[in-house]
Amino acid sequence: MFAKLIIDIANSNVDRLFTYRIPEELDVRAGHRVLVPFGRGNRPKEAFVIDVCEEYDTGFEVKSIVRTMEPYTALLPDQIELAKWIARAYHCTLCDALRLMLPAELRGGGVKQKTVRTLAIAEGVSPEEAEAAMLKKDGTPRAPKQYEVFRLLKTSGVPMTVSDIMAYVPGSAGAISALIKKGFVTEQGYVTFRSPFRGEPGRDLPPELTEAQSAAVEAISKGEKGQVFLLHGVTGSGKTEVYLNAISRAIEGGGSAIVLVPEISLTPQTTDRFRRRFGEIVAVMHSRLSAGERYDEWRRIRLGKARVVIGARSAVFAPTEGLKLIIIDEEHEPSYRSESRPEYSADEVAIRRVRLTGAKLVLGSATPQLVSYLRAKQGAYRLLELPERINGIPMPEVEIVDMRTEFMAGNNSLFSKKLADALKSCVSSGEQAILFLNRRGYSYHGECRACGFVFTCPHCEVSMTYHKFNGTLRCHYCGYSTCVPQVCPSCGSRFIKFSGIGTQQVEEQLQKLIPGVRSLRMDTDTTGGKTSHRDILDAFSHREADVLIGTQMVAKGLDIPGVTLVGVVFADSSLFHSDYRSSERTFQLLTQVAGRAGRALKDGEIKRGHVIVQTNAPGHRAVTLSAKHDYKTFFGLEINDRLHTLFPPFAVFARALFECRDEAAAARLAERFAAEAESAVRGALAAEGAGDELIFVSHGPAPIRRREDLYRYAVVLKLARTKHTSAAITALRRAADGFNAEGFRGVDVNPGDML
Ligand code: ADP
Ligand code: ZN
Ligand code: ZN
Repeated sequence: MFAKLIIDIANSNVDRLFTYRIPEELDVRAGHRVLVPFGRGNRPKEAFVIDVCEEYDTGFEVKSIVRTMEPYTALLPDQIELAKWIARAYHCTLCDALRLMLPAELRGGGVKQKTVRTLAIAEGVSPEEAEAAMLKKDGTPRAPKQYEVFRLLKTSGVPMTVSDIMAYVPGSAGAISALIKKGFVTEQGYVTFRSPFRGEPGRDLPPELTEAQSAAVEAISKGEKGQVFLLHGVTGSGKTEVYLNAISRAIEGGGSAIVLVPEISLTPQTTDRFRRRFGEIVAVMHSRLSAGERYDEWRRIRLGKARVVIGARSAVFAPTEGLKLIIIDEEHEPSYRSESRPEYSADEVAIRRVRLTGAKLVLGSATPQLVSYLRAKQGAYRLLELPERINGIPMPEVEIVDMRTEFMAGNNSLFSKKLADALKSCVSSGEQAILFLNRRGYSYHGECRACGFVFTCPHCEVSMTYHKFNGTLRCHYCGYSTCVPQVCPSCGSRFIKFSGIGTQQVEEQLQKLIPGVRSLRMDTDTTGGKTSHRDILDAFSHREADVLIGTQMVAKGLDIPGVTLVGVVFADSSLFHSDYRSSERTFQLLTQVAGRAGRALKDGEIKRGHVIVQTNAPGHRAVTLSAKHDYKTFFGLEINDRLHTLFPPFAVFARALFECRDEAAAARLAERFAAEAESAVRGALAAEGAGDELIFVSHGPAPIRRREDLYRYAVVLKLARTKHTSAAITALRRAADGFNAEGFRGVDVNPGDML
């Protein structure tokens, strides 16, 4: 027998199948990881078996597999197929695609299984006789520790773990070894799993579903294999309860399910909710797990001990046998798109995976991506709707405040009169508020009032953010920081002004407004690690503070019942980006933030949440329609605009990036590639008999022209989306492959941002 395998080396030169002989005594199947001699020196390398075949005819001598790395196949058949698709769709090596499916810890054998040692009285040893033999004539033990350990095992009657024994008889390590040596006791071991969970969550009983929820669960359960559902439900409409019920049906016959959630490490409540429903069969996968935990959770899934997997983006690759259902919660979140190579989207991968396995996919959101809703309208996805909140809790009341009028009326604080009053009454009645700022230190930069000089990073050509607490200016791209100079470096004037707002400033003004108010701040600057963000959220939900001030992070899935007021300090900052998606993103963000207010009954009484949105663009449809919770109208207008201006989903952007120390070199490369790319794409389109689908090709400096001392030039292609698009993209990729130049960062199709 022979095996076709991929060597586990990230190098496109070895990105092909190699054939090895399978020795008689080895059980090797597709999906096994194996060790093989490779290369000139026949150094041992790890490899993935893709296929096993009976014959292999070639004149060459075939080397033999040395051994398998694990007794089980590390990759399931559908994962191998999925990896092949990823390599094609995202243009990476099969090795890179396969690596996505495995915890890094598995490769190279970096993490060991955790075994627990147990002791038992040896077979054939009579406990009484042995005990007697351990005593001296005068009845005292010869070796007191050994005697004690032996008595402990004897009374216990069952094997005990070594750590338990050591707890009862401190300092008994030597005694234990002696007892084993003498043959009185024997040692055994069993493998355990390191668990990321702390404590038992208890169990809960499912509530009775509403009519809309039951209809959704029924539709999903009766759906066809490979079908995709879009569950559109306002915040608090009971989407999670639908997921829980659909999962419980899916796993009834021994199947498994995957649930993707954004920011999983910030929201342990979600995992707890699943554990309360499904108990031990829940596993989690995210980047905050320790290496050992990640490895063990992966093995628990692979070995079928865990059948409900909750995780971040990469959990879409979980090794679930008998996969029946994938759920992507808050499907519009940008975090589902990988930013490092291969740049996959979890939803695209999930669609592929349910087709390969015959499972079903549910995309859930209060504000679906426009493209998902469009597909649902066109019938590619089945639309399921939950139009109302549970328990008749009303949608929050949203008020829009025009900050220009406030300013003209002489109010130049960060809070409008409305928001100031609402904050005071919220805090004085013992309720909680969230103040939301659209982006960390967004426009908080330093500028000279006399000459207009803006402090920019010397390495990146972006304005630096002012940090008041230590009086520094800092670059968020490269980390460069410097003290604020006393005078303008350009004209010598002393009038340096810091404009824009950050969470620190909001906190200061809040303290002035309500002296002594207990506030917490959460943004990427408060601390480095995400665990402390957890602490902040925990503190807030335990009512250790009245007001939480934060950026994007506070918008995501937070469910804190005490919150009745949400203030959006400044809604505009994501509106006027050059990105065509900024309107969609702002709508999503505002709707999500507003959804944090008044989610629960207060003392058995329905308390309507209150949201105040401060803006300089009170007429913008992202603002007005999110205030009315009107997704459908927003969708209709926005999609119509995109159709008429030819933007995604009706067009495709592709961008190639060049980064060089020498600006002229970067510009030249971009120009050269633009020409090659254009002719490749035109050629492919002509061969397909397509028309004028290449809308434009441009080259020039990227919006951030210099970053970390490298000049950045880009080539952007825009194509109308038609049935010929994939042929055009393939031609573009091929042109990129053939374009060997230092500083070439590759081609991205519909990149997350164009900066
Ligand atoms: P979403 O995921 O849409 O935000 P959830 O599933 O979290 O909504 O539901 C919101 C709240 O309503 C939760 O506290 C949940 O426990 C509760 N809930 C959901 N469905 C029901 C139901 N059928 N009956 C009673 N309470 C429910
Ligand atoms: Zn910088
Ligand atoms: Zn100046």
